[in-house]
Amino acid sequence: MIEVINKDWFINKINGFLEDNESNKMNKVDGSFIFEPDVIVGIVDGNDAIYTRYKTIIGEFHLTPSEAYEWYCKEESIEFKNCNLSIVAYILHINQKTKTENLNYSKTMPSERWAHTRLFGEQANRNIQEYLIDELKNLEITAFAPALDKRLFFINKNIWASNWSHRHSCFAAGLGSFGLSDGFINSRGKAMRCGSLIVDLKLPTDALNRPSDPYEFCTNCGDCISRCPVNAISFENRHDKMICEPHVSSTVPFIIKTYGIDIYGCGLCQVGVACSNGIPKK
Ligand code: SF4
Ligand code: SF4
Repeated sequence: MIEVINKDWFINKINGFLEDNESNKMNKVDGSFIFEPDVIVGIVDGNDAIYTRYKTIIGEFHLTPSEAYEWYCKEESIEFKNCNLSIVAYILHINQKTKTENLNYSKTMPSERWAHTRLFGEQANRNIQEYLIDELKNLEITAFAPALDKRLFFINKNIWASNWSHRHSCFAAGLGSFGLSDGFINSRGKAMRCGSLIVDLKLPTDALNRPSDPYEFCTNCGDCISRCPVNAISFENRHDKMICEPHVSSTVPFIIKTYGIDIYGCGLCQVGVACSNGIPKK
């Protein structure tokens, strides 16, 4: 039987992975899911003009799908064609227990489950991208995840922005909008992790679901302002990464000492706020 590759195919593959794969278990805590098997997926055409606009919004260094895929094709000696490219973006829903724990644990430091989600959940997220690439390869479809390739991917530390932003692909694919705190507000809530990959296959775009206002779903309630321990969020300046980042980095010694894992984390502005579990009502 010929497999039909569409949005449902990606949803089923990712949810199946989240159900069965050991990397989605909080094995060093209680064995529960890191991410609920409840993914949402959006798709956008690889030649959508929004990626060119990201060069102005994020920076010239942010790659268009075509640039990233052309680089990959050159490295892998694959013939490059950009006419069929689609971006598949997805949002992984953080376990409710983790959100509740991070809300109640401390006003400055992340909880154990949150720190484990940051470290092991991100590994599971990377595994999902590799898994999808392999599954597509079995069907003779090429896919590439720019954020997984150390030769290509980098973070511009002057402004703390990467050259391939999963969140911006989620926005392009109509999955939600940004919020005052820079978090991505969507139907599963701002407390999430997300991923994206380039697929060399024409798929129907969800660009029509993309709001014209990048902050469409943020109600400006200000909940996230009061949750931030270092005042990195304000109505005037929105989210100041230059204040946020040093605090997030400063959590490393605490996490190593308290939980025995080497990672940074905070996410206090993602829990206990109006958009933690979904799109807030206006
Ligand atoms: S907590 Fe309120 S102000 Fe902050 S991002 Fe969410 S909706 Fe916007
Ligand atoms: S991640 Fe932490 S430090 Fe950064 S804005 Fe959110 S609450 Fe503030």
